[in-house]
Order: sequence, then structure tokens, then C-alpha cells
Amino acid sequence: MPYSSEPMFPGWSGLESSVGASASQEPVEEAAVGLVWEVGSLLEELEGAGIGTSAPCPGTNRLVEARLGVGAGLFTALQCKSRPAAAHALRVAMTCSGWAEQLGLPARDREALEIAALLHDVGLIGLPDEVLLKPGPLSAQERELIDTARMQTVEILRASCVVPEVLEIVRYAGAWYDGSRAGYDRRGQGLPLGARMLTIVEAFDAMTNEQVYRAAMSRERALAELFRCAGSQFDPYLVEQFALFAETGLSTVRQAVAGRWLERLEPAAGNRFWGFSGQFGGTRPPDILDLFIGRLLENMYDGVIFIDTALRILLWNHGAERLSGISAESITGRSWSPGLLEIRDEKGALIEPEECPVACTIRSGVQSLRRLTLTGRSGRKVPVDVHIIPVASERAVEGAIVLLHDASSEISLEQRCQSLHQQATLDPLTQVGNRAEFERVYEAFIHTHLERQLPCSLIICDLDRFKQINDTYGHQAGDEVIKALAGLLKAAAHPGDLVARYGGEEFVLLCANCDNASAARRAEQIRQAFAQLRLPCLGGAPVTASFGVTEVQPGDTPETMLRRADRALLLAKSRGRNRVVQLGAGADLREGLPLWNLFQQKPPEADILLQQRLVTPVPWSLAMEKLRGFVADHSGRILSTQNDQIQVEIDTSPSRTRRASDRPMTFLLDLRMKEFRQTRQADRGAAFGRAQTKIQVAIAPKRSRDRRRTDVVARAREVLLSLRAYLMADDDPQPDVGWEPAPEKKSKGWLAWLWRK
Ligand code: GH3
Ligand code: MG
Ligand code: MG
Repeated sequence: MPYSSEPMFPGWSGLESSVGASASQEPVEEAAVGLVWEVGSLLEELEGAGIGTSAPCPGTNRLVEARLGVGAGLFTALQCKSRPAAAHALRVAMTCSGWAEQLGLPARDREALEIAALLHDVGLIGLPDEVLLKPGPLSAQERELIDTARMQTVEILRASCVVPEVLEIVRYAGAWYDGSRAGYDRRGQGLPLGARMLTIVEAFDAMTNEQVYRAAMSRERALAELFRCAGSQFDPYLVEQFALFAETGLSTVRQAVAGRWLERLEPAAGNRFWGFSGQFGGTRPPDILDLFIGRLLENMYDGVIFIDTALRILLWNHGAERLSGISAESITGRSWSPGLLEIRDEKGALIEPEECPVACTIRSGVQSLRRLTLTGRSGRKVPVDVHIIPVASERAVEGAIVLLHDASSEISLEQRCQSLHQQATLDPLTQVGNRAEFERVYEAFIHTHLERQLPCSLIICDLDRFKQINDTYGHQAGDEVIKALAGLLKAAAHPGDLVARYGGEEFVLLCANCDNASAARRAEQIRQAFAQLRLPCLGGAPVTASFGVTEVQPGDTPETMLRRADRALLLAKSRGRNRVVQLGAGADLREGLPLWNLFQQKPPEADILLQQRLVTPVPWSLAMEKLRGFVADHSGRILSTQNDQIQVEIDTSPSRTRRASDRPMTFLLDLRMKEFRQTRQADRGAAFGRAQTKIQVAIAPKRSRDRRRTDVVARAREVLLSLRAYLMADDDPQPDVGWEPAPEKKSKGWLAWLWRK
């Protein structure tokens, strides 16, 4: 059959004249003599058919039936139309088979090629004899008819339910390797291997056999023609391979193939290539995998859509029908666009066709997964996880699969988690953090700031005379007032801060990375803003709140800081309410506590852990007040005061972040505090100079067994650090100035030793 719109080798061959002779020249095994005879006579029978003979050739029947199974009827039809055409097809098929075997093609591929070759000219049965048997050159119209015949071959084979791989070979056998022949969408290596082989063998057979319109060419001439067209019409590599293969003697090859077919093929082998699958255009055999895939697609709950590169919908499964409310029947074959499902992006905006994620995937070949929303026919908006997977063959992207997973249940689960989290952490009335949330965050907050040596502050505030407000305006109005204060606190919070409702009408604001001065300023702003509010629920009557502010300081624990803030709030209340009181020195104190900085030798009293001489730039009365704050915030007690000597007991409870095995530890602090005035040169003669308080402190564990604990010094050091911070004290640069000798203690305790110095 011709294989080009301007065929280089139009027409097809008659029989190879030397077949019978070359077959008889081959050495044969005794056992195969019968078979060889049969093959030889068969080929002779074909040879005798002559050009234009149309009588069937019964000798080939066995051979062809063995190979084609139920498809043998098609070959017989061709034989009826033109014996030379059938003989050409048989030779081509046998040559292809031998070549495929020599190239080492898998058996299934070789067999598909054999069938394709046997039937590649079946479409000629629809060609008028005047064209088929025309001895001269063909007109353009006649050539068109010949081209149509190849397409008819494909249609006949498709209708006969040949397997797709055979159909593909036949379909592309007419294509040119360089893609220059119109009507084919593939070229080069994209053409099926079988098709590239068939086109070479077919051309060679046509050239080397007599045609109605010209004499047979020599083998060398035909090969030269093949090489001339290598790279354009033919695969150049395969032309080379074929030239080598043809050296072996094609008639020998054909004989061997005929022997193989007759000897080994059972009827069932031929039938494997035919069957009706009922799916995908009815061209497939009832492939078991297809059955499974079909069932899977139909029963999947998720939506599955197949879309080709032209954005045509190829498949729309039940899941897609369910999600969209659009039936597969009404949509298959139509163009895909995001508007079909009113698809909205993560922000709720409609996706325009030019942003279509399917088109994007097809263009880029990159898969995507997004949570989008679609609106089906029912108008119900459904959140869906849309997974778009590109489908690519060896050559190019062929389309995409769209998986639609209904995410409604995930969304509601996420929402439920979120709402549970809110319930657990937020105060329902004010929507600020609740007490539990504050306690969860607070300790880590303080430790993190201490570790990083960053300041952080705590504002605690309480509505003034709130009981009266409730009594006067009612609880609902009271609630409005609480919400108003919470709103102001929320507005004043910076990123990283935490606002929480600590109690009934008491709030805390944890200020991240904020020193006491800034925190006090912020508290003052909130206080003023609140005092200026005129709430309708109170009939415009003013309402105020009091504020306590403190900054974390050395030696603090979360508890001491909170107690200090609370103490500041109480002070604000006691000083008349509607005010801000700030307590504590803040973190800005010189750190570093040299142990035994006062004495170079270790104290003789085994119990003493630390001792230090300090000075604070405040008078004794204020220092005493600060000491009381220190004792209160540590839940300590003043055990005794005698002259300038004070004994204090302090409990250190292990913080929640410490190991559970830690027990609280109690320390005894022996202090001497004495005011003295330093008269500067300029002040000489004045009644008094600048007041300072000197402090001597010694710390010992209350129970001597605690001394053996590994963390005892560290804990004592924390107490000392905290004391220094509360007293705003520093190392005394003149430790011996200003002290009278301490009164002799009767007890022979370590304190006596200390104060004797
Ligand atoms: P002070 O200035 O000393 O703080 O006076 P106060 O009246 O505010 O003091 P107190 O703490 O004794 O009173 C707090 C009142 O707050 C008592 C309680 O009925 C009221 N309260 C607590 N929680 C709520 C609430 O959620 N809503 C309302 N309306 N009132 C509350
Ligand atoms: Mg109150
Ligand atoms: Mg209160």
C-alpha cells in the first residue's frame, strides 16, 4: 500500500520471485521436513497468485488463522480483493516478525507488529479496482483515495475490536519520521516502534517486488532509497538496523517465521488480540485492570474528573456528580472552566478562567493541592480539597486528573477544636484570656524573659467600688463596665502581650519586653482613658479603676512578681483608688554576686551559705519598707527585730518548672540595717548630708539537713539577689565605714561571729 501522499514507492509488491528457490536451498532438520514443505508450498502458492488475481488462496489460511485468530476473516477479505496485496501483507508481516525477533523485542510487541503488518492494508478492500490496478501514475484525486484507504484500515480494525497497540501501529505506519506528513500528531521517537519498523519493511517490500506500474527494484537500490529517505520518511537508526538485518536473507527469515507460526501458535494465541471491552470507545479488550479502575472510579466518594489538554472533560464520576449536582451525562465532552462549579479561592474570591488551576497544572506539569470552595447546582457551598495531578506520556502532558475531596467534615472538626480551645482559654464575657490561660502562660513568660535578660512587666488592675456600681445600676450594667475595661486593655496590648481576666473585676496585662517605666506609662494611659469613659449603661456616670505595676527583677519567681504587683494594686486602692502604683526596682540592677565578697576566708559557722555588705541609696525607713515588701512577696516572716538587727525567715517554693522531687527550702536571713549620712565636701556644715542605708546580710538554711542539698547555694543566691533588688542595694564600696561594733551576742551562733567583724 502507498505510504505517502506523494508516495515514493506507490502501489504494492507482487510476490518475491526467489522465495521458492531460496527456501529449497536452506539446510533443514529431518523432523521439520514436513513443515518446511508446507511453508514452501504456501509461499509458492502466494507467488503463483500473480498481480490482480483475486481468487482466495487456501494454502495461507492455516498460517494466517494461526496468527490472526478471529481476525483472519479480515485477511481473507483482503485476499479476495487482491491476492498480491494479501501476499505483500504476509511477506511484510513475516519480515517484521523476523526483524523484531532479531532486535529482541518482547514477544507481545512482536506479535502486535505481526498482526498490524498482516492487516495494514485491509482498507484496500474499499478501493475501486481502477485505482488499485492502475498501471500508470496516480492522479491527485486517486492518491487521496489511497490515503483514505489507510484511514479505512484503522476504522475496520477499530470496529473489529483489535487491541489498541495494534491499532496504534497501523494508525502511525503512514507517518513520516520527521513529522512532515500532514494528518499525524506524532513524530520521531513519539511514533510507535512497531509503526516505524512497519513503514520501512513495507516500503522495502513494495520496492523489491513488481508492481502493476513498475518493475521490481534491486535489493541494493531499494536499500539506497531507504537510506536516502532516512531521517525524513524513516527512522534513520532503524534503516541502518534493517539494512543489516536484510543481509541475512529475507526469504530465510520468512520461512523461519512461517515455521514458528505453524508450529507454535495455538488458536487462542491469535485471539488474544481481539475483544470488546465496552469502554473507552469499545476498542479495548475486556482488560481486567480497566474493570477494576472503572469500578473504583464509580464507587469513589471523592469526585474524580479527567480533563484533556484542550480542557475537555473526559470523565466525571459519581463523586463529582454528588459534589456538584451536575450529571456526568450532561457535562462529559464539554469544556472545563472554574466557573462550572463557581470555584472560589482560599479568600472566597471567584477563580477566573485565566487563573484556572487545572489549566495551570496542564501548562506547568506541576501538581497542586488547595482548599477551595465550590458551589454546586443546589447552591450549597462546599469546601473541597482540590488535588490536580498532571497526566503525562513520554512526549507531553496529556491532561490532568482533578480529585475533589469534600472537606466539610475536616472544617467542622477544625472549627470544633478551635471553639474548644477558645472555651478553654478565653473568658466568655470579655473574650480576653481567662485565669487558666494566664497561669499557663505566665510562668514560661517570666522565665523566658529572665533567661534572655529582657525586661517584662505585669499590670494588674481592679475596678473601683464595683460593688456599688452593681448595686446601683444592676449586674448587666456591671458586665458592660467589665467589658469596657477589657476592651481598653486589649487595645493597649502589644504583640506578645497577654490580657487576661484574673478574677471578677480584676484584670492582668502581661507586657512583653517592657520595663516598669513604660508599663506604668501604659497603665496610666489606660487609667485616664477609662476614667474619661461615659458609659450609657451607667447613665454617663464615671467609673474608675486602680492599677498596680511591676517589672521582673533579679531573684524573682513568678509568684514574687505577682505578689508585688498585687501589693502595688492594694497600695493604689489604699492611697485613694483611680491611680497607678508601681513597685520594684526592675531588672536594671548590677548583677553578679561574688560569694564571700566580704571575707576572704570561709566563715567558721558551717551553716552560713552567703554573706554580703550592701548599700542602698534610701533612708532607713524606706529601706525597711522595701524589706517588708520583700518579706511579704516571698510569704516570709520577720522573726525578730532588735536595734538594727532583724531576723527574717523566707520560704522558697520550687517553681512549677522545677522537678517535682524538689522540696520547699526555708532560709534564715540575719540582717543589720543602719542609716548613715555621707556629707559631701559641698555639704560640710549643713545639718545633714545624703541618707544611705548600709546592710549586712548573712543567709543560712533553717534546717541543717538542707545544707546537703545540691541546689542550696543556688537557691540562697536567688534569695540574696531578690533582696538586693527589693532594697535596690548594691555592693558597699566602703564596707567598714559607718558601723559601730555590733553588740556582743550571748549565744555563740554564727551571727555573733559575723557581727563581731
Ligand atoms: P474596690 O474599689 O475596693 O475594688 O471595691 P469593689 O467594690 O470593687 O470591691 P470588691 O472586690 O469587694 O467587689 C467586687 C465586686 O465585683 C463583687 C462582685 O459582685 C462583682 N463582680 C465580680 N464579678 C462580676 C461580674 O462578672 N459581673 C458583675 N456585674 N459583677 C461582678
Ligand atoms: Mg474592685
Ligand atoms: Mg476585686
